Amino acid sequence: TVRTRFAPSPTGYLHVGGVRTALYSWLYARQHHGEFMLRIEDTDRERSTEEAVQVILEGMAWCGLNHDGDIPYQTHRFDRYKQVIQQLLADGKAYYCYCSKEEVEQMRIEQTARKEKPRYNGYWRDRQETPPAGVQPVVRFKNPLTGDVVFEDMIKGKITVSNTELDDLVIARADGTPTYNFCVVVDDWDMGITHVIRGDDHVNNTPRQINILQSLGAQIPHYAHVPMILGNDGQRLSKRHGAVSVMNYKDEGYLPEALLNYLIRLGWANGDQEIFSIDEMLALFKIENVNGAPSAFNTDKLLWLNQHYIKTGNPEKIAEHLVHQFQLLGIDPQNGVALPRVVTALAERAKTLREMAESSRMFYVELVEYDMPAVQKHLTPDTKITLNTLHDQLAMLTTWQAEPIHAAIHQVAEQLGLKLGKVAQPLRVAVTGSTMSPSIDVTVELIGQERTLKRLQQAIT
Ligand code: GLU
Repeated sequence: TVRTRFAPSPTGYLHVGGVRTALYSWLYARQHHGEFMLRIEDTDRERSTEEAVQVILEGMAWCGLNHDGDIPYQTHRFDRYKQVIQQLLADGKAYYCYCSKEEVEQMRIEQTARKEKPRYNGYWRDRQETPPAGVQPVVRFKNPLTGDVVFEDMIKGKITVSNTELDDLVIARADGTPTYNFCVVVDDWDMGITHVIRGDDHVNNTPRQINILQSLGAQIPHYAHVPMILGNDGQRLSKRHGAVSVMNYKDEGYLPEALLNYLIRLGWANGDQEIFSIDEMLALFKIENVNGAPSAFNTDKLLWLNQHYIKTGNPEKIAEHLVHQFQLLGIDPQNGVALPRVVTALAERAKTLREMAESSRMFYVELVEYDMPAVQKHLTPDTKITLNTLHDQLAMLTTWQAEPIHAAIHQVAEQLGLKLGKVAQPLRVAVTGSTMSPSIDVTVELIGQERTLKRLQQAIT
């Protein structure tokens, strides 16, 4: 069965590029009724934090990229790595190297002078010499000396690297700790990973990893190296270009569906189809059709998709995401109309949930800001009688819904012999503080009866 994995290093946030890789890996596993595993690559203890792990887990959960099984942490597996290193030493597939840093550096200098590719020259590979006293050796893997490493990358096609390009990789440092590439190999082996889908910044590690897997007698997984995402200047997408962390997008009011839809389309297409539900992704995505070249991030497209999902999504579900925006703005959603009604009313007007939350403030919080020119224009002594009549009509309503509210506004206009605008506009300014809002009957409905009457009262006195 297919088993893929996502193996982030918890050194900061969850990058959108990482999410795209994770999405591809998740889709591949789910499409094949396989398993999608998560693994925490925290061997860099200086830079890894448990907080960053939590951020990654939150991000994955927010995106709905659920994983199977336990989550191994590399730092919990050192005994296992050491065991495999001992085995390789015992089998003569690895050896102790007593070269000092200075000696290795000297090799590099001489090779560079000869215009050769710098590499460890294998001095201790098959040497029977007595080791120098007092030197803590590193352990090196005996890379094959001849032949090629060949693999068929599912995205990039056939990749061939000559073993003469690869030197004997350090797999354990002088202090005994295993090195990164070695941990990855043992993990992929132990976890039974069949398909390694990862960023193409790792493509150069793959031939070495394949050689080690081979010497361990492990099944070699399939590989798919996903290209980078670039910013609008052609450089690798980074904080300089704006938000790159998934949680930024959450905080800015994007829906996970929009972000995933955006990310799947970066470097992959199904004709000119723009919108993909998760089910469609599962049905249509083909990792083999991912473009091998990097793609550029375009926030306009993402915004467009976000609006699409806000407009077409289930209001109850969108409301759950809207709660987060209310929290960020310090608004209590308990303090007014149920959120799904707000979503329905504002879906056409908001590009993000943040915008939606900002324009919902007046439904939940007392008005503090009034647009003064609007007040001066529409709340004149002449409008008092209009507002008074409205107040009394609205106070009598027993069902507080847009339709009866609409009828009441019409009735007041008729009764006072005014054009509808001469009633609606003062009402709007009195209850929203400005001349701009969604249709007045819906707005008044969402503000609620008690608040509406109170605001009218305030405008009159
Ligand atoms: N931990 C690596 C990263 O975050 C991924 C390694 C891999 O997928 O093999 O870039």
